[in-house]
Amino acid sequence: MLDATHDLETQSWVASANAPDCDFPIQNLPFGRFRRSPAEPWQIGVAIGDQVLDLHAAGLIDHFDMHRLMAMPVAARRALRKTLWEGLKAGSALQPLWQAALLPQNTVELGLPCEVGDYTDFYTGIHHATTVGKLFRPDNPLLPNYKWVPIGYHGRASSIGTSGHSVRRPCGQTLKPGAEIPALTATQRLDYELELAIWVGQGNALGEPVPLDEAEDHVWGVSLLNDWSARDFQAWEYQPLGPFLAKNFATTTSPWVVSLDALAPFRAPFTRPEGDPQPLPYLDGAHNRAAGAFDVVLEVWLQTPAMAAAGHAGHLLSSSNFLDAYWTLAQLVTHHTVNGCNLRPGDVLGTGTLSGPAPEQGGSMLELSAGGKQPISLPNGETRTFLQDGDTVILKAHAQRAGARRIGLGECRGTIVPARTLATLD
Ligand code: MN
Repeated sequence: MLDATHDLETQSWVASANAPDCDFPIQNLPFGRFRRSPAEPWQIGVAIGDQVLDLHAAGLIDHFDMHRLMAMPVAARRALRKTLWEGLKAGSALQPLWQAALLPQNTVELGLPCEVGDYTDFYTGIHHATTVGKLFRPDNPLLPNYKWVPIGYHGRASSIGTSGHSVRRPCGQTLKPGAEIPALTATQRLDYELELAIWVGQGNALGEPVPLDEAEDHVWGVSLLNDWSARDFQAWEYQPLGPFLAKNFATTTSPWVVSLDALAPFRAPFTRPEGDPQPLPYLDGAHNRAAGAFDVVLEVWLQTPAMAAAGHAGHLLSSSNFLDAYWTLAQLVTHHTVNGCNLRPGDVLGTGTLSGPAPEQGGSMLELSAGGKQPISLPNGETRTFLQDGDTVILKAHAQRAGARRIGLGECRGTIVPARTLATLD
């Protein structure tokens, strides 16, 4: 699975890509969309160092349709990766030509990687599911289906936004403790969820399930995803049909989609804890067992307004790893389509909150504050149980291993702005 594009020693003629802590070295080459001004249509680019390579200007594509790119067969995707690597590596004869197609990332607007047709959110973080289950159902935290079926729900694609946008504190129904009648209120329990987004590449026809050994061929890549959540709305509305207004007001994704090819050096075996059931045969296979998981370090940072005013970039709230997910991304694709449901290029599958096994590895504030009962202490003396107006949540991720070049997923950033006044809703 590894080829020349993963070579640790290869450097780029784009100098910023060679910094050891750069998320986008020549071994990464993630895809995204950008524009020079709001009047311009979205263009397709590849991140290299602190620059973006305009694929159309570089003569690599003759269209601006990301879905068309995502629908490419795997062999064509790998060929494009190889072409990009050849052209961007130090000493390439293409440097003079491609230099003119480079733009500093900080001079362009980065958009959603593509228009998202459908968005599904899974629940693969078993540590998250157990901790949150205890809060909602102390006697029965993990429901009996959890270890057999990848749990998910259909989310809302229209409210997915890109890193850097503002998230308005939502209003909705809550039932206050001890109250008999619910009220309409701005959420008092606004939370983030640390997730990865799986971006569907090639689709499947309606009625045609994707077998597990072909599932990864349908994945274009992954990005960070923040599934913003209003916990007070969620507790009141979630039974019997699951999340609704507690989740659909905003979802944020990072702008760069990192391919499974770039993540190849960071594969790991898929294993189940001792005593847990093995997946049903349609979710089991030799490749998935040997290399279906990915070693990706995930982080949540919080920057409060006070930190921003003091010039602090933020505080690391928690860290976890994609290895702790209960299902692999291939299993999510196969399960999603086993009934014949058709996935289309650009669909997003959220992994669910990726918490680690330790209490301090919770991927949401609900977990870190024990349901709001234990305030989280920040180094500057502030505390939080849930998010306050002006808070900025920053998700980051990277993969690092001996013998491989470190790559990153960039940032997924969102800032809370105050709710609309309730008067306008009454
Ligand atoms: Mn979620």
